[in-house]
Amino acid sequence: MARHFAPSKKKKRKLPSLRAPALPKLFGPEKKKRRARSFDREFSVRDMLFVILATILFMVGLLLQRSPAIATLLFALAAGLALTNPLLHVLQSLFSKKVPDEDMLVCLGVVLAFCIGEGAAGAIAAILYHLMQILEAYTQTRGRAAMDLVRDRLPDKAMLVIGEQTHEVMPETVDPGQIIRVQPGETLALDGKIVSGVTELDQSALTGNSNGRRCGVGDEVFSGSVNRGDVIDVEVTRPFSEGAFAYLLRNVEDSSRYETTPERLTKKISVWLAPCIALLTLLIVLIPSLLTGEWTRFLRIGVIFLLLSSPSSLIISIATSCNGAELSAVLHGIVSKGHDCFEVLSQVKTMVFGKTGTITEGYFEITEVYSNGISKEDLVEVAAAAESFSNHPIAHLLKAAANWRPEIGESVMKVEEVPGRGVSAFIEGRNVYVGNASLMQDHDIRYKVPSHSGAAVHVAVDNRYWGHILVSDKTREGAFDALEALRSEGVKQLVMLTGDVMSASRPLASSLGFDLMRTELGPKEKVSAIQYLISGQGRGCSVGFVGDGINDGPMLRAADVGITINALQAWREAEDADILLMDSRIELLPEAMRISRILRRILWENFVLLAGSKTVLLLLGLFGAVSIPLAATLSTFFSALALLNSFRAFGLE
Ligand code: ADP
Ligand code: MG
Repeated sequence: MARHFAPSKKKKRKLPSLRAPALPKLFGPEKKKRRARSFDREFSVRDMLFVILATILFMVGLLLQRSPAIATLLFALAAGLALTNPLLHVLQSLFSKKVPDEDMLVCLGVVLAFCIGEGAAGAIAAILYHLMQILEAYTQTRGRAAMDLVRDRLPDKAMLVIGEQTHEVMPETVDPGQIIRVQPGETLALDGKIVSGVTELDQSALTGNSNGRRCGVGDEVFSGSVNRGDVIDVEVTRPFSEGAFAYLLRNVEDSSRYETTPERLTKKISVWLAPCIALLTLLIVLIPSLLTGEWTRFLRIGVIFLLLSSPSSLIISIATSCNGAELSAVLHGIVSKGHDCFEVLSQVKTMVFGKTGTITEGYFEITEVYSNGISKEDLVEVAAAAESFSNHPIAHLLKAAANWRPEIGESVMKVEEVPGRGVSAFIEGRNVYVGNASLMQDHDIRYKVPSHSGAAVHVAVDNRYWGHILVSDKTREGAFDALEALRSEGVKQLVMLTGDVMSASRPLASSLGFDLMRTELGPKEKVSAIQYLISGQGRGCSVGFVGDGINDGPMLRAADVGITINALQAWREAEDADILLMDSRIELLPEAMRISRILRRILWENFVLLAGSKTVLLLLGLFGAVSIPLAATLSTFFSALALLNSFRAFGLE
């Protein structure tokens, strides 16, 4: 995202150290971040009672207006009750010598209203301000409750198997290597590998996909999955705080550190808004009043200015919308590492894709083996041995075909993965190269061009060509529809950049309707291609990169927004991604785009609604075209509208 933000930002967004002590914050009692100006609102039954009482007093005051002294007293009592919290806050700020904030200005406004004989207007303004704060608190509480819903999906206990017995323990105390038992209906608390039993897991908490996943002995399973089948024993592979679900939660929590433009703008405005309005009010009241002597008239304008000084609804509504969208996305299986990622995603006009494992499923099949002087089995075995430590889909295929076991990996040394080409390794005294034609060319090895189409994995040992294994992969289900949907979400150009050869890539690219394709690219060339595409974009247009995360780091970093698909299988490799599509469903991509576009709309709607309405009201107030109660009522009305609007982000179904 180098173009829109400081380059260092990307670094910061890297996965917070997996051993970071961030977790207690998630699972322990919620700690509030106390910044210089905190907009954390809370409300209690007492607040509700106060506002009801204040309203009653105000009404009685209205009825008793014939006796102005009693009416004013009742209005003053009503205003005092309604402003209890702000007044306490003002006293606190005064004692700690802080810059005046909007609470202080509103209180001042109400007092001034009383001074100029507008007691009723002052009381209305106070009551409305209090109501606004309750609504703001409610908005925040609802947002937090939704977050708790996600957090509560992880159990707080695990059944540890020791000998013949099971013991209930806290998941944090379980170490890798220990065995836990998961009964039907229970949720896995830790990541691990199944060591006994066959079952179906519901991974929807992580992926948003409620279709069950069949798994048995040897399969990797993730925390947050619900056991829908039989009892399984799982050997824990990662501590609790490093599990998939903890990772997902951490990202959701951390995402609010990276703000969208409206969030940044509003925070900036909020810093100077209250002091500026205070100064402006002083000027507007003092200068014309001294010149004309019409103190009451200009004090009235001053009161309106003071009452409109609070930026809190704007800040809260925008933060709520972002959190809402973040949560909606997580429920779909989309995790963004910052609110700004959604913002950039909504501006993507060029989407770049890797091919292997992104557009294709990444589950290869061997279609042909050609061997040159050795048996086909030996060829596959040596290839699999060289791939011992690779996580590339081709490596998985070869290892499965050769019945690879971890012991084989022990005899393999000096392994080097050449992204976009293959691997080289030193096995039992011999140099082995396994990869595509480019890798062979790099080492001046003469290879045989395969007679059939498909991707060829060539194998050379000590610079002698041993043969090749032809592999084929299937296009991801729904890829065509997903790409079409992307176009309707505003993407203008679809680009495929692949390390694979032209013969294997062209049919795919043309059948899916890509606008541009380049083949046989290594990561460096892919990065240059992305940079070139970025340089051709206009203002407010971005370039996204979608990959499977395997060897994709440089491209994920280079693009304005980097997205990985199937992140649950490769989230440790996908550190550089901005947005993770946890499942392998490619339709999550247009879904993420849709959420980001709706969020963007809500944010700007709220920004324009609140900043606009306040500006208009201030101008009207300046020319005396609006009364104090009307200004207070309209401002509250627009604030409430913005807060309600922000709730839309929670329901982005
Ligand atoms: P894409 O750009 O389509 O995502 P990759 O960059 O992952 O593809 O890989 C491009 C090509 O490089 C593959 O088609 C394969 O031929 C070769 N390749 C990459 N990594 C490996 C590996 N570990 N083993 C064998 N071949 C590999
Ligand atoms: Mg790839």
